[in-house]
Amino acid sequence: MEKLIITIAPTGSIPSKRDTPFVPITPEEIVADSLEAVAAGASVVHLHARDEEGKPSSRLDLFAEMVEGLKANCNAILQVSTGGRAGSSFAERAERLGLKTEMASLTTGSVNFPEGVYINSRELVEGLAQRMLDLGIKPEMEIFDASMIEGARDLAQKGLARSPLHFNFVLGLKGALGATPKNLVYLSEQIPVGATWSVAGVGRAQLAMAGHAILMGGHVRVGLEDNIYYSKGVLATNARLVERIVRLAGEFGREVATPEEARGILGLPHPPSSGGKIATD
Ligand code: ZN
Repeated sequence: MEKLIITIAPTGSIPSKRDTPFVPITPEEIVADSLEAVAAGASVVHLHARDEEGKPSSRLDLFAEMVEGLKANCNAILQVSTGGRAGSSFAERAERLGLKTEMASLTTGSVNFPEGVYINSRELVEGLAQRMLDLGIKPEMEIFDASMIEGARDLAQKGLARSPLHFNFVLGLKGALGATPKNLVYLSEQIPVGATWSVAGVGRAQLAMAGHAILMGGHVRVGLEDNIYYSKGVLATNARLVERIVRLAGEFGREVATPEEARGILGLPHPPSSGGKIATD
């Protein structure tokens, strides 16, 4: 099996300091928390921004501060979210791509979230994909429902996304696909040959889905974005969630990928500063 890529999603759009004092909100907090998670074994950092009031924000300066802070202090792969909770227009969701992180999230269809419809029209999805392609950013296809895999395949067929594709199955959110082993097996069998996948179980499903993925050869996303509890009634920290995955992977004999190894697995060019080979495509 390939080495295990652990993605940390430290903040997201939902948890507040009232829900858990451990959720990082300011760019400074998000950078510090992400660095701890990277030190614990995460190789990809999935970023959302919050404003001074803690609300989801599409402000470029906030994203820039996080990206600069992380780039200066670690070698992890940075992945900005292009999710719509911080502003739903194309301009709001695309602007941060100008920071040219190595990856960005891309949801390839619409879904009923508990708080409303998460709208991702074909036009918007293709526009974001085109922008990522132009900037050399690899999309992580966020899959809330099986049909979204077809949406991602469609992008590849149209030349709007390069193979190998990378998928993240977000399972267990009310209104989307449930977090069951059968769903995970089904989804992992629907993606194109050569594609990679990870799973983000929402809430209490996070640990179980991660365990299945470790055994199935997939990759894992953890973090307070998807789940604020370590166990029943016990609040988590981002670092502790990563540490647990590293420990579990070790028990199962699956090695954890460094950021450089993760770049190899995901087919990302190696940045020149790392001394790695620079890919030309
Ligand atoms: Zn996210």
